[in-house]
Amino acid sequence: MTDIKDLIQTPTGQMLINGVWVKSASEETIAVEDPSNGQEISVIAAAGKEDVNRAVAAARTALESAAWSRMRPIDRGRLLEDIARKIEEHAQELALLESYDNGMPVGMAMMVNLPASAEIFRYMGGWCSKLGGKTVPVSGDGRLFHAYTQRAPVGVVGAITPWNYPLAMASWKIAMALAAGCTVVLKPAEMTSLSALRLVQLIHEAGVPEGVVNVVTGYGQSAGQAMAEHEGIDKIAFTGSTATGKKIATAALGNMKRVGLELGGKSPSIICADADLSQAIPGAALACFFNSGQICFAATRLYVHKSVYEPVVEGLAQVAESLPMGNGRVETNMLGPLVSKAQQDRVMSYVEKGKAEGADLVCGGETAGDEGYYVKPTIFGNTTADMSIVKEEIFGPILSVAAFEDMDEVVKEANNSAYGLAANLWTNDLRTAHITANKLNAGSVWVNCHGIVDPSMPFGGFKESGWGREVAEEGVSLYTETKSVVIALEDAQFG
Ligand code: NAD
Repeated sequence: MTDIKDLIQTPTGQMLINGVWVKSASEETIAVEDPSNGQEISVIAAAGKEDVNRAVAAARTALESAAWSRMRPIDRGRLLEDIARKIEEHAQELALLESYDNGMPVGMAMMVNLPASAEIFRYMGGWCSKLGGKTVPVSGDGRLFHAYTQRAPVGVVGAITPWNYPLAMASWKIAMALAAGCTVVLKPAEMTSLSALRLVQLIHEAGVPEGVVNVVTGYGQSAGQAMAEHEGIDKIAFTGSTATGKKIATAALGNMKRVGLELGGKSPSIICADADLSQAIPGAALACFFNSGQICFAATRLYVHKSVYEPVVEGLAQVAESLPMGNGRVETNMLGPLVSKAQQDRVMSYVEKGKAEGADLVCGGETAGDEGYYVKPTIFGNTTADMSIVKEEIFGPILSVAAFEDMDEVVKEANNSAYGLAANLWTNDLRTAHITANKLNAGSVWVNCHGIVDPSMPFGGFKESGWGREVAEEGVSLYTETKSVVIALEDAQFG
C-alpha cells in the first residue's frame, strides 16, 4: 500500500493558474481527510474571488492567444489523445489517489473511473476536427448568397464538479471544453480535489499551452459562487446537487452565461414478472449500492412485480450482505466508506426516517467499522410513495422496495419524482422493454443492465435532474455557439 505522502505529486496547498503553481491570495487552506479513517492527509488552497479573477484572466488570454485559437484542429485532437494516454500511464496512481481522497475502492476506480476519464479525452479528440457548420440555401431578397453556419467556442468555461467521481467529472468537462476550442477554469469539490490537481498537471505535461486549463480549489460558497457570478466566464458546466444548481443558474443571470447542469436523481428500477432473476437481482442491487450509493444515477427506488417480490427481496438481501466493505486500498473490497462524517450522518438520518415512517428494515441500517464513515448496504421493504426515503435523494446505500401489479401503475409510480436522470427495467419481453422505455421520463433508460455510460451516448436528466446533456455530439455542441454567416454575391438593386 503506497504511502499517501509519496503518492501526492502536486505541490501541497497550491493551485495551477496560467501554468504556474500558486498559493491562494489569502494563503488559507482546507484540510483533506481520508474517509476510511478520518485522518488528515494533506491540505489544499482555499481560493477566493481574487484567485478566481486571476484564473479567469489567464483563461481569457489563452482563449485569444494564437497558440490555442490557431492550433490546427487535428493537432488539438492529438493533444487530447496524448492526455488520454497520460491518464492511462498513471492509472494506478490516480486510482489510489482517488481512494485516499474519496474512499472509492481502487479496483472500482480502475474499472470505471479511470477508463471513463481517459476515454472521454480520446473520444472528444475526434470531435476537434469535426465540429463544423454547413452551407445553407438562403432565399433572402432573391440575390445569390453564400450562407453558412460556423461553430465558435463558447469561450471561457467554468467547470464546477462534485465529490463522488472527482477525476471522471473533471475529465468530462475539460475534454468537451478543449474539443470545442474553449479554455477552462476548473473548481473541483473541496472534499476531493487531489485527483483533479494531478489531472491538470498531467494535462500540462501533455503539452496544453499555459492558461488553457487552470484549476482553483476551494469552497463552493466562495470560489464556486465567484465563478458562477463572474462576468468573464461564458459558460458554467456544473455537476452537483439540484439545490446548488439552482443557485448557480440564478448567479449566472448577471451576464447571461450559458449554464449546463448535471444534477441529482432518484432513479427507479423495475423488475417485471418475466425478468431473469439471476440477472435482475444482482443488477438491481448493484444499481443502488455501487460506490456506496454515491452515484447520481443510483437506482434507489425498486419496484418489483408482486409475483416475484418475496424471492427478489430475499435475493437482494443476500447480495447486500455479501458485498465486501472496507478500506478501498484492500483489493477485495467492493464498497468503501462514504465521503465524510457529514455524509454518514445524513445517510443514517434517512435510516431513522425510513423506520419512523413505517418501512420494513430488511437488512443493514447500521454504520460499520471502528473508524471511517461506513454505512452497511440497507434495504427497506414495503415502502410507499409518501416516504422520505422514496422521495428524496440520499446519496448513500439505501434501497427502497415496493411491489406492483400492472405496468401502467408502475410507470406512473416510477415517473412520480421531481428528478428524471435515469431508470432501469428488467424484462425478457421485447414489447414491454420498448413501450416502457418510451414512457419513462428519464435521460437514460437501461434495459436488463444499469449504468452503461458511454462517451458516445448523451447523458443528462429530465426535470430537476438538470439542463442540457453532456458527452457525445450533443454534449460537445453545448460548448459552442452557432454563428450564421451570409455573404451577398450580387449587388442589391436600390431605387
Ligand atoms: P454540491 O452541489 O454540494 O457541490 C458540487 C460542487 O458545487 C462542489 O464543487 C461545490 O464546492 C460547489 N458549490 C457548492 N455551493 C456552490 C455555490 N453556491 N456556487 C457555486 N458552486 C458551489 O454537490 P456534491 O454534494 O458535491 O455532490 C453530490 C450531488 O451531485 C448529488 O446531488 C448528485 O446527484 C449530484 N451529481 C450529479 C451528477 C450528474 O451527472 N447528474 C453526477 C455526479 C453527482
